[in-house]
Amino acid sequence: MQLVVRNARLRGRSGTFDLAVDGGIIRKVSKSLAQRGEEELDAHGNLVVPPFMDMHFHLDSALAYGDPRFNKSGTLLEGIEIWADKKRKISEDEIHGRAVKMLKLMLANGTQVLRTNADTTEPKQRPLRALLGVKEEFKDLMDVQVTAFPQDGIMTDPRNQEFLEKSVELGADNVGMIPHHEFTREDGVRSIEFAFDLAQKYGKDIDGHVDETDDDQSRFLEVVAAQSIKRHYEGRVTAGHATAMGSYNDAYAAKLYRILRRAGVTIVVNPLINITIQGRFDSYPKRRGMARVKELLEWGVNVALGHDCVMDPWYPLGKGDMMQALFMGVHVGQLTGYRELANSFDLITTNPAKALRMERRYGVEAGKPANLVVLEAKSEIQALARLAPPLYVVRRGKVIVRRTPSVTELIGPRGTERLDLEELMQTGKAS
Ligand SMILES: [Zn+2]
Repeated sequence: MQLVVRNARLRGRSGTFDLAVDGGIIRKVSKSLAQRGEEELDAHGNLVVPPFMDMHFHLDSALAYGDPRFNKSGTLLEGIEIWADKKRKISEDEIHGRAVKMLKLMLANGTQVLRTNADTTEPKQRPLRALLGVKEEFKDLMDVQVTAFPQDGIMTDPRNQEFLEKSVELGADNVGMIPHHEFTREDGVRSIEFAFDLAQKYGKDIDGHVDETDDDQSRFLEVVAAQSIKRHYEGRVTAGHATAMGSYNDAYAAKLYRILRRAGVTIVVNPLINITIQGRFDSYPKRRGMARVKELLEWGVNVALGHDCVMDPWYPLGKGDMMQALFMGVHVGQLTGYRELANSFDLITTNPAKALRMERRYGVEAGKPANLVVLEAKSEIQALARLAPPLYVVRRGKVIVRRTPSVTELIGPRGTERLDLEELMQTGKAS
C-alpha cells in the first residue's frame, strides 16, 4: 500500500477507521487494517474529510489590497472603482505572482477544488491568461475552474460581448454574467440570454453573479432559473451571491424556491464579504446580505459556499480558509441547531461536488481518489469552534501539506503548564 491512514474519524459514522491507499485511490476503509503502508499517517482520532471546495472566488484580484489604493469606505462601489484603476496597468506576471501565493494559502487550509472568476472586461484578457496558466501549473495539487466573468457588464459596452466570447475561445471553463449590474432590467435579461447562448454554443456551464444587491426589485434569479429549464440546462447552472433574496417578500421567495429546485440551480453564498458590503444603504435594522440558506436547503435547493475575495479592493481580510467562510455562514444563516451545524460541512464539501458533477470521484470511500484533509478536531462542530488549519492534506495518496501544531503555555502560580487547546475544548458529550 502506498499510504495507510490510521485512527481516522469519518463524518456520520461512529468509531475510528483505517484507510488503505494505493495508486492514489482509497482501496479499503475498515475498522482495523493489518496491512502496512509505505507511508503511515496517524490521524489520532481526528476527523478526516474530503478536501474543501471553494465555489466562488476572484483569484485575479486576490492579495492586491492597497494597490493602487486602500478602499476607504469599504463599499462594493468603491471596490469596483479601485479595481477599474488597477486593471488599466495590470500585467499577467503580477496577477500570476499573487495567484500562486493565494493557491498555496488555500492548499494549506484544505481546499483542493476552486472555481475562480477572471475579469474578461480587461481588453487584453490578461486576468484570464494568467489564471489559465496558474490552473495548468497547479493541476497536480488542485482542481481549478476559471469562469469568464464580465465584471463591467455584458450589455454596457458591445466590446464586452466580444471579450466574453474571446475568453471562452481562449479556454475559460464557465460563462459568467452580472445582470443586476446592467443599465436596465431589460439589458439584464438580455445579458442572461447572451450568456446562455454562449454557454450552449461552446458546451460550457453557467456560473453567474446574480442579484448581489439589497434591492428587493432585483429579480434576475427567476430569469436564470427559467432559462435553465427552457434550455435543458438543469444541474449546469450556479448563481453566486443572490443577496437580494434576503429582501424578497415570503410569497415571492416561496415561488422562487420551487423554480430553483426544478431548474437544478445551485446557489453559492459568500457570507464573509456579503455581511460586510450588503446593508450599506440601511440605517437600522440592517440587513444581513445573504440568500435564505436555511429555507433553500429545506426546499431541496443545492447550496454551496464561496470565499469570494481575500485581501483585495472589496474584502480586506481572509486567508483562503473555507472554514472561516462556513463559520460566518452558520452565524449569518443561524444554522446553529446541532444537526444544522454538523450538516453545514456539506456546504463546502458534498454540495459543491454535486454542483460540479464530481460526486463519483469525491469522498472518503473505497474506490475514490485519495484526496483527504486531516483536521485537528474530533467533529465538525469542534472544527468550526476551533478554526485550526488542517494537520495534513493528502492529494492522490501523497501528503502535500503537513503542519506541526504550535505550543501554547500558561505560566501560572504553580508553574508553567503546556496547554492542549483541543483537549480544553472537549465538552461532556462528544460533539
Ligand atoms: Zn464574486
